[in-house]
Amino acid sequence: MSDSLTETQFKEAFDLVADQAGIPHDLREELSKELFDTAKGLFKPNGVDDSKKRIAIIEKYISLFDLQWEEGARFMSMYHPKARNPRKRYAELLGNYIISRVYSIRNFERHQRTKQFFSPYLLLQCGVYPCPLHAETEYLVLPVDHPYWTQRPLATSVFCHCYHSPVRLKVLEKYRKEGVSAYDGHVYDENGRPTGQIRKKFFPIKEVPPT
Ligand SMILES: [Zn+2]
Repeated sequence: MSDSLTETQFKEAFDLVADQAGIPHDLREELSKELFDTAKGLFKPNGVDDSKKRIAIIEKYISLFDLQWEEGARFMSMYHPKARNPRKRYAELLGNYIISRVYSIRNFERHQRTKQFFSPYLLLQCGVYPCPLHAETEYLVLPVDHPYWTQRPLATSVFCHCYHSPVRLKVLEKYRKEGVSAYDGHVYDENGRPTGQIRKKFFPIKEVPPT
Protein backbone atom coordinates (compact mmCIF):
# COMPACT_ATOMS: atom_id res chain seq x y z
CA MET A 1 0.00 0.00 0.00
CA SER A 2 1.32 3.41 -0.92
CA ASP A 3 1.76 5.58 2.10
CA SER A 4 2.21 8.92 0.42
CA LEU A 5 0.49 11.98 1.77
CA THR A 6 -2.99 12.37 0.33
CA GLU A 7 -4.64 15.69 -0.44
CA THR A 8 -7.52 14.70 1.86
CA GLN A 9 -5.20 14.19 4.83
CA PHE A 10 -3.43 17.44 4.16
CA LYS A 11 -6.66 19.40 3.62
CA GLU A 12 -8.11 18.15 6.91
CA ALA A 13 -5.04 19.37 8.80
CA PHE A 14 -4.84 22.63 6.87
CA ASP A 15 -8.52 23.50 7.34
CA LEU A 16 -8.38 23.03 11.11
CA VAL A 17 -5.34 25.27 11.44
CA ALA A 18 -6.71 27.83 8.98
CA ASP A 19 -9.96 28.06 10.97
CA GLN A 20 -8.14 28.52 14.27
CA ALA A 21 -5.71 31.08 12.87
CA GLY A 22 -8.45 32.93 10.98
CA ILE A 23 -6.84 32.65 7.56
CA PRO A 24 -9.19 34.41 5.12
CA HIS A 25 -11.22 31.99 3.00
CA ASP A 26 -10.24 33.60 -0.30
CA LEU A 27 -6.57 32.77 0.34
CA ARG A 28 -7.03 29.20 1.52
CA GLU A 29 -7.30 27.21 -1.67
CA GLU A 30 -4.15 28.59 -3.20
CA LEU A 31 -2.20 28.52 0.07
CA SER A 32 -3.25 24.95 0.79
CA LYS A 33 -2.13 23.83 -2.67
CA GLU A 34 1.28 25.48 -2.34
CA LEU A 35 1.82 24.03 1.13
CA PHE A 36 0.74 20.55 0.07
CA ASP A 37 3.57 20.58 -2.47
CA THR A 38 6.10 21.36 0.26
CA ALA A 39 4.79 18.61 2.56
CA LYS A 40 4.58 15.69 0.10
CA GLY A 41 8.33 15.05 0.22
CA LEU A 42 8.16 14.30 3.94
CA PHE A 43 6.33 11.05 3.29
CA LYS A 44 8.25 9.76 0.29
CA PRO A 45 11.02 7.17 0.56
CA ASN A 46 14.20 9.21 1.08
CA GLY A 47 12.03 12.27 0.87
CA VAL A 48 12.99 15.60 2.31
CA ASP A 49 10.93 18.16 4.11
CA ASP A 50 10.82 21.48 2.32
CA SER A 51 10.18 23.39 5.52
CA LYS A 52 12.13 26.50 4.48
CA LYS A 53 9.96 26.89 1.43
CA ARG A 54 6.84 26.17 3.48
CA ILE A 55 7.67 28.91 5.98
CA ALA A 56 8.47 31.40 3.20
CA ILE A 57 5.12 30.68 1.55
CA ILE A 58 3.17 31.15 4.80
CA GLU A 59 5.12 34.31 5.55
CA LYS A 60 4.16 35.71 2.15
CA TYR A 61 0.47 34.91 2.71
CA ILE A 62 0.20 36.20 6.27
CA SER A 63 1.69 39.49 5.16
CA LEU A 64 -1.53 39.99 3.18
CA PHE A 65 -3.89 40.27 6.13
CA ASP A 66 -4.02 41.02 9.83
CA LEU A 67 -3.32 37.70 11.56
CA GLN A 68 -5.72 37.30 14.51
CA TRP A 69 -4.58 34.05 16.09
CA GLU A 70 -5.12 34.20 19.82
CA GLU A 71 -3.75 30.79 20.73
CA GLY A 72 -0.71 31.35 18.54
CA ALA A 73 -0.11 34.72 20.21
CA ARG A 74 -0.31 33.06 23.62
CA PHE A 75 2.16 30.38 22.54
CA MET A 76 4.53 33.04 21.19
CA SER A 77 4.39 35.14 24.35
CA MET A 78 5.08 32.06 26.49
CA TYR A 79 7.82 30.42 24.48
CA HIS A 80 9.23 33.07 22.13
CA PRO A 81 8.63 36.39 23.90
CA LYS A 82 11.62 38.07 22.26
CA ALA A 83 11.23 36.86 18.69
CA ARG A 84 13.11 39.26 16.46
CA ASN A 85 11.02 38.53 13.40
CA PRO A 86 7.55 37.72 14.73
CA ARG A 87 6.01 37.19 11.30
CA LYS A 88 8.59 34.53 10.51
CA ARG A 89 8.03 32.88 13.91
CA TYR A 90 4.28 32.85 13.30
CA ALA A 91 4.85 31.33 9.87
CA GLU A 92 7.04 28.65 11.45
CA LEU A 93 4.49 28.00 14.16
CA LEU A 94 1.67 27.68 11.63
CA GLY A 95 3.73 25.45 9.34
CA ASN A 96 4.82 23.16 12.18
CA TYR A 97 1.30 23.02 13.54
CA ILE A 98 -0.14 21.90 10.17
CA ILE A 99 2.56 19.24 9.84
CA SER A 100 2.04 17.90 13.36
CA ARG A 101 -1.70 17.65 12.68
CA VAL A 102 -0.92 15.82 9.41
CA TYR A 103 1.22 13.35 11.36
CA SER A 104 -1.48 12.75 13.95
CA ILE A 105 -4.13 12.14 11.25
CA ARG A 106 -1.86 9.68 9.44
CA ASN A 107 -0.73 7.91 12.61
CA PHE A 108 -4.29 7.46 13.75
CA GLU A 109 -5.22 6.01 10.35
CA ARG A 110 -2.27 3.63 10.63
CA HIS A 111 -3.32 2.48 14.09
CA GLN A 112 -6.76 1.75 12.65
CA ARG A 113 -5.23 -0.34 9.86
CA THR A 114 -2.86 -2.32 12.07
CA LYS A 115 -4.91 -2.82 15.22
CA GLN A 116 -6.06 -6.33 14.42
CA PHE A 117 -2.55 -7.52 13.56
CA PHE A 118 -0.43 -5.87 16.22
CA SER A 119 -1.68 -3.58 18.90
CA PRO A 120 -5.32 -3.22 19.79
CA TYR A 121 -4.75 -0.42 22.36
CA LEU A 122 -3.35 3.10 22.40
CA LEU A 123 -1.49 4.84 25.21
CA LEU A 124 -1.73 8.64 25.44
CA GLN A 125 1.32 10.59 26.57
CA CYS A 126 1.87 14.34 26.60
CA GLY A 127 4.82 16.24 25.18
CA VAL A 128 6.98 18.83 26.87
CA TYR A 129 4.43 21.66 26.80
CA PRO A 130 1.49 21.39 29.18
CA CYS A 131 -1.38 20.36 26.91
CA PRO A 132 -4.76 22.01 27.56
CA LEU A 133 -6.59 19.15 25.86
CA HIS A 134 -4.98 16.04 27.28
CA ALA A 135 -3.03 16.83 30.47
CA GLU A 136 -5.65 15.21 32.67
CA THR A 137 -5.80 12.07 30.54
CA GLU A 138 -2.08 11.42 30.24
CA TYR A 139 -1.38 7.65 30.56
CA LEU A 140 -4.87 6.77 29.43
CA VAL A 141 -4.98 3.40 27.67
CA LEU A 142 -8.04 2.50 25.60
CA PRO A 143 -8.83 0.29 22.62
CA VAL A 144 -7.97 1.89 19.27
CA ASP A 145 -11.69 2.01 18.44
CA HIS A 146 -12.73 3.83 21.59
CA PRO A 147 -14.66 7.04 20.72
CA TYR A 148 -12.51 9.07 23.12
CA TRP A 149 -9.68 9.11 20.57
CA THR A 150 -11.83 10.73 17.90
CA GLN A 151 -13.56 13.05 20.37
CA ARG A 152 -10.19 14.38 21.58
CA PRO A 153 -7.84 14.04 18.62
CA LEU A 154 -4.18 14.97 18.92
CA ALA A 155 -2.55 18.14 17.64
CA THR A 156 -5.74 20.17 17.48
CA SER A 157 -4.16 22.89 19.63
CA VAL A 158 -0.80 24.49 18.99
CA PHE A 159 0.08 23.56 22.58
CA CYS A 160 -0.64 19.84 22.02
CA HIS A 161 2.47 17.76 21.46
CA CYS A 162 0.91 14.58 22.76
CA TYR A 163 1.35 11.22 21.13
CA HIS A 164 -0.28 7.80 20.98
CA SER A 165 1.77 4.65 21.35
CA PRO A 166 0.32 1.37 20.15
CA VAL A 167 0.08 -1.17 22.97
CA ARG A 168 -0.16 -4.96 22.75
CA LEU A 169 -2.25 -6.87 25.22
CA LYS A 170 0.86 -8.35 26.88
CA VAL A 171 2.32 -4.89 27.40
CA LEU A 172 -1.00 -3.61 28.71
CA GLU A 173 -0.92 -6.35 31.34
CA LYS A 174 2.55 -5.19 32.35
CA TYR A 175 1.39 -1.55 32.51
CA ARG A 176 -1.49 -2.59 34.73
CA LYS A 177 0.96 -4.07 37.20
CA GLU A 178 3.89 -1.65 36.97
CA GLY A 179 2.67 1.54 35.33
CA VAL A 180 4.43 3.33 32.48
CA SER A 181 8.03 4.49 32.91
CA ALA A 182 8.26 8.12 31.81
CA TYR A 183 10.05 11.44 32.23
CA ASP A 184 9.49 13.07 35.61
CA GLY A 185 11.56 16.25 35.51
CA HIS A 186 15.25 17.00 35.97
CA VAL A 187 17.59 15.73 38.64
CA TYR A 188 18.93 18.59 40.82
CA ASP A 189 22.09 18.65 42.96
CA GLU A 190 22.17 19.69 46.61
CA ASN A 191 22.40 23.35 45.55
CA GLY A 192 19.26 23.09 43.47
CA ARG A 193 21.07 23.17 40.12
CA PRO A 194 20.01 20.79 37.35
CA THR A 195 22.58 18.02 36.89
CA GLY A 196 21.64 17.41 33.27
CA GLN A 197 20.15 14.04 34.15
CA ILE A 198 16.48 13.34 33.90
CA ARG A 199 14.39 11.51 36.40
CA LYS A 200 12.09 8.69 35.41
CA LYS A 201 9.19 7.35 37.31
CA PHE A 202 6.45 4.78 36.91
CA PHE A 203 3.06 6.37 36.33
CA PRO A 204 -0.12 4.33 36.82
CA ILE A 205 -2.24 4.02 33.71
CA LYS A 206 -5.86 5.11 33.49
CA GLU A 207 -8.42 2.97 31.72
CA VAL A 208 -11.53 5.11 32.07
CA PRO A 209 -11.87 8.28 30.02
CA PRO A 210 -13.30 11.38 31.68
CA THR A 211 -17.06 11.77 31.29
ZN1 LIG B 1 -2.48 17.05 23.82
